[in-house]
Amino acid sequence: MITIDGSEGEGGGQMVRNSCALSLVTGEPFRITSIRAKRSKPGLMRQHVTAVEAAAAISGSECTGLAVGSPELTFRPGRTVPGEYHFAVGTAGSTGLVLQTVLLPLALANGPSRLVLEGGTHNMLAPPFEFIERTFLPIINRMGPQVSARLVRHGFFPRGGGRIEVDITPAPLAPLDCTTRGQALGVSATALFSALPGEIAERMLARTRRDLADWPEDAFRLHQVPADQGPGIILLLEARYANITEIVSAFGQLGVTAERLAKTSAARIQGYADASAFAGPYLADQLVLPFVLASGGAFTTVKPSQHLLTAIDIARTFTGRRIEISRESGDHLISVG
Ligand code: ATP
Repeated sequence: MITIDGSEGEGGGQMVRNSCALSLVTGEPFRITSIRAKRSKPGLMRQHVTAVEAAAAISGSECTGLAVGSPELTFRPGRTVPGEYHFAVGTAGSTGLVLQTVLLPLALANGPSRLVLEGGTHNMLAPPFEFIERTFLPIINRMGPQVSARLVRHGFFPRGGGRIEVDITPAPLAPLDCTTRGQALGVSATALFSALPGEIAERMLARTRRDLADWPEDAFRLHQVPADQGPGIILLLEARYANITEIVSAFGQLGVTAERLAKTSAARIQGYADASAFAGPYLADQLVLPFVLASGGAFTTVKPSQHLLTAIDIARTFTGRRIEISRESGDHLISVG
């Protein structure tokens, strides 16, 4: 059985989710110890438990140690069974992170699936719905499986209550070359908010406009969501190219001004625009799973994050594949051999 020390590398929840997904696809059982040992509240949190439960539910896998606070988990994978599944993350835990866990096993299964996921759709430290829909899924769809996601209801931290629906038509994953962005197609800045004064969203957008002075006037928009889906606010900065759409997001937080959030996000999207690498830092760690399961392909990214390096280590452990990182004229090239 594969044993993973959960305190190594990035030492977070992503190690648990990626291990479950890889275990389902490869059929390798695993044990993970010292889960999230580097976090202030170590052990599995509610949203990690839901992600593992979801992985077990689609496959009849057997788990021990699956409880909130547990520092250790054993997972013996069953066979992934496609179908209709409904998972609710108890709190505003991220629906996107549950999707990360079950998507690829279902995309490689022997029939179509439909998922209904309830919980947070716009959570800090997780991919917001738009990132999943416009940044991540188009790449999966180019690799073979056809996956479409719909946002039915927004769910912001801490209230949650959001809902997304995902349809998956499986197909083998083909290796992809993701090293060039292609032609620049456009940009947009959206302040999405609910049950908060519109003035906060306007200030956020005004500061973004000031910092991204060369963006066209019609790129900036306010999007107010019905009040029963809030409160919450998020800034989404999007840069579209022929081969990739990058989305930088910033979540409203108590104690952080709208201007400061806008300033940081504007600097991040400008940094992406000024660089040439295909994947931004978040997409990069999320591409490891599909690329290793495609048994080939390559993508470029900016400076490798600890999340990316840890995702690569876990992927190597489960598949034995060679995954190399090299420098390619300023960018980093991740290639799966
Ligand atoms: P922990 O609490 O242990 O940190 P976690 O399960 O909440 O664990 P991580 O292990 O840090 O979270 O994994 C977060 C995942 O969400 C990563 O795959 C990362 O790429 C993705 N992510 C985080 N923030 C964003 C964002 N703003 N946009 C897109 N993806 C994001």
